[in-house]
Amino acid sequence: MSFPAMGYDLTLSERSIEDLFFHFPYLVDPRFRVRDIDSRQETLNDGTRVDMVVRCQDTLFIIELKKGDINTADLQQLVHYLREADKKWNKNLRKEGLLFGLGIRDRSQIDTSIAASGFRISIKLYGRDVPTSVKFCRRCRKAVSTAKSECPWCGAQEFIY
Ligand SMILES: [Zn+2]
Repeated sequence: MSFPAMGYDLTLSERSIEDLFFHFPYLVDPRFRVRDIDSRQETLNDGTRVDMVVRCQDTLFIIELKKGDINTADLQQLVHYLREADKKWNKNLRKEGLLFGLGIRDRSQIDTSIAASGFRISIKLYGRDVPTSVKFCRRCRKAVSTAKSECPWCGAQEFIY
């Protein structure tokens, strides 16, 4: 694929965040490869749609991207997707949820809901857990946060913007 001349800017829209993760899933989790992406905008049995599904080793990651702060309703929605995913995909695949947002509202209530859900769910924040904008390593060509001065993948210090 061809790289954009300028780094992405995640503040633009939910769609651009989805594009970024779709092309560079290792930004979400260093274990994720492009071939691990099972689907994008996957429709579940009940007609609802999940933003991204990644199958990595024995785990199916259900990924939901929020543009603003994460609230309890977003968490409940993700739990619903995980239950539906359990019906749709092989029971032997572990299901794990990743919920992305700018910040968190009702943190303690969300933690309680996660514990009650029985699923493994992680909350990830833009800018803290995933980069908000990226540049490209001149040597390995991987996407790297613009906040980093050294490529975390190969150690090079020259980048393409
Ligand atoms: Zn590199």
